[in-house]
Amino acid sequence: MKKKRGLVWFKNDLRLHDNQALVTAHEECSELLFCYCIEKNDFSELELGFRRTDVIRFRFMEQSVLNLKKNLKSLGGHLIVGDDSALVTLPKLVEEYGITDIYAEEEYAAYEMALAKEVQDLLPKTKFHFFWGKTLYHKDDIPFEISKIPLTSKAYRIPVGKKTEVRKALSAPGKLNAVAGIKDEGFPSYKLYGFKKSEYENSAPLVEGGEDAALQRLDYYTFESRLLTGYRWSRNKSDGLDYSSKFSPYLALGCISARVIYEKVKDYEEKVKKNQSTWWLIFELVWRDYFTFKAMRFGSSVFRTKGYKNKEMEWENDPLKFEKWCQGKTGIPFVDAHMRQLNETGFMSNRGRVNCASYFVHDLKIDWTWGAAYFESKLIDYDVSSNWMNWHMQAFEIWYTNPVHQSNKYRAQDFIRQWIPELSDTNNIEALIPWQFDIPAYPKPIEIYKKWGRAVNLIEKLSP
Ligand code: FAD
Repeated sequence: MKKKRGLVWFKNDLRLHDNQALVTAHEECSELLFCYCIEKNDFSELELGFRRTDVIRFRFMEQSVLNLKKNLKSLGGHLIVGDDSALVTLPKLVEEYGITDIYAEEEYAAYEMALAKEVQDLLPKTKFHFFWGKTLYHKDDIPFEISKIPLTSKAYRIPVGKKTEVRKALSAPGKLNAVAGIKDEGFPSYKLYGFKKSEYENSAPLVEGGEDAALQRLDYYTFESRLLTGYRWSRNKSDGLDYSSKFSPYLALGCISARVIYEKVKDYEEKVKKNQSTWWLIFELVWRDYFTFKAMRFGSSVFRTKGYKNKEMEWENDPLKFEKWCQGKTGIPFVDAHMRQLNETGFMSNRGRVNCASYFVHDLKIDWTWGAAYFESKLIDYDVSSNWMNWHMQAFEIWYTNPVHQSNKYRAQDFIRQWIPELSDTNNIEALIPWQFDIPAYPKPIEIYKKWGRAVNLIEKLSP
C-alpha cells in the first residue's frame, strides 16, 4: 500500500521520458506534487558587469518549463513554478501538502550541490531521493571511481567503451497520481528578475525550448533529414541549424536524455547507415560524460584562474579588450561574427567556441574564467562541466588556434557577412582581412599578430 505523499523537484531534467526521479516517485507515492523552482540569484549581476544568467537563457528555460507543464497536464498532473528559490518554495509546499518524500536528479557541481544540501538541511523530516540522470553511461556503471577519473579522455573512453553498457532509457509514466486541485498560477514574469520588456521580447533563442521540440529535433536530425550521415564532415561549420545536431540546449536543461539520443542513433545505424558520423556523435556524448566526471573529480578548482592544475599564467586583463570581445567588436571578423551570433541567439558552434576562447586566452591574455563566465551568461546550452572544462582545456591544454587561418580554412565569408552588417558588401578577401582595406564602419583590430602573417598571405591570393 503506497502511503507516501511525494514531490518531484524538476531541475535540469525537464522531461517525462527517461526520468528516473519521476518514474520512481510515480511508483512509490499515492499522491504527487510537481515543482520547478527558479533561482532568483542566478540572474544577479556579476562584478564583471553582466548577469550570471542573461535573458536569452531565461527565455529558453521558460519555454522548456512551460512545455513540461503542458506535458504533465496531459497526464493529469500540474507544475508549480517557484519564483524565488527552492529554499523558499519547497519548505512551503512540504508544510502545506504534508509531503513526506522529495524526488530529484542528483547534482554534480558545487553550487547546485550546495543548494540541494541547504534544502535538505531545511527539511530534516523529509526523505530525499536523488537519482543520477545526466550522462550517457550511468555514474555507477563506469569502471572508475570518481576520484580516479583519468586525466586524458582516451584513458577514460577506451575502458568505458569496452566494459560499460548504456542502460536502457525509461519510458514516461502513464496517468499521474497527482494531488488534486492545484491552481495554475502561470509563469513568473521576467520583470521579477529585473529584465526589461524590450530585452525579453527581443530575445530569440536559436531553437525553441522543451521536450517536444527536443524529440522533434532528434527525429529531424536522424530519420527525417538523414543529416546524421554527414555529421562527421559538416560538424565544424558555423552557419545555420543543419551542420550539427543542436542537441546541446536540450541536453543542458534535460529536455532530452543522452540515452534516448543513443538509442535513436543505434536504430539509425541498423536501419539507415552506420558510418564515421554515427560513431562520432556518440563519441561527443562520451566527451560530455567525461567532462562531467572529470569536473566532479576536481570540484571547485575547475572554476579557479589557476585551474585544477594550480598553474600560474600571465594575464593582462584589459577591461576594454574584454568589452570588445563580449560585444563582437575586436576587429577580427571570425571572432566577432561568432560573438555577435552568441549575443543574439544564445548559441555558438563548437568551431566558434574554440576560436573565441583561444583568441581570448592566448592573444588578448585575459583570465579565462572571465570568458567562461560570459559564455555561462549567454549560452542556452550552458552546462557547468561542458563549459568550464572546455574553457579550462583551451587555457591549459590546447595549442593555439589561429582565427585568421581558420576563417579561411572553413570558408567563413558568408557567415561573416551575415553576422557583421558592416562587412555585408565585402568580397571574399575583404571579409576575412578587412583591416587591409578601407572599411571605416568596421572596428580596426585590437592588434595584428605577426604569427597571422602566413594566413593573411594565403587569403590575399584568394579569388575575390
Ligand atoms: P554536436 O556536434 O551535434 O554534438 C552532439 C553533442 O555532443 C552535443 O549536443 C554535446 O552535448 C556533446 N558535445 C559535443 N562537443 C562537445 C564538447 N567539446 N564538450 C562536451 N560535450 C560536447 N557544450 C555544452 O553543451 N554546453 C556548454 O556550456 C559548452 N561550452 C563550451 C565552451 C567552449 C569554450 C567550448 C570550446 C565548447 C563548449 N561546449 C559546450 C561544447 C560544444 O561546443 C557544444 O556542445 C556543441 O557546439 C553543441 O552543438 P551541437 O549540440 O550541435 O553539437
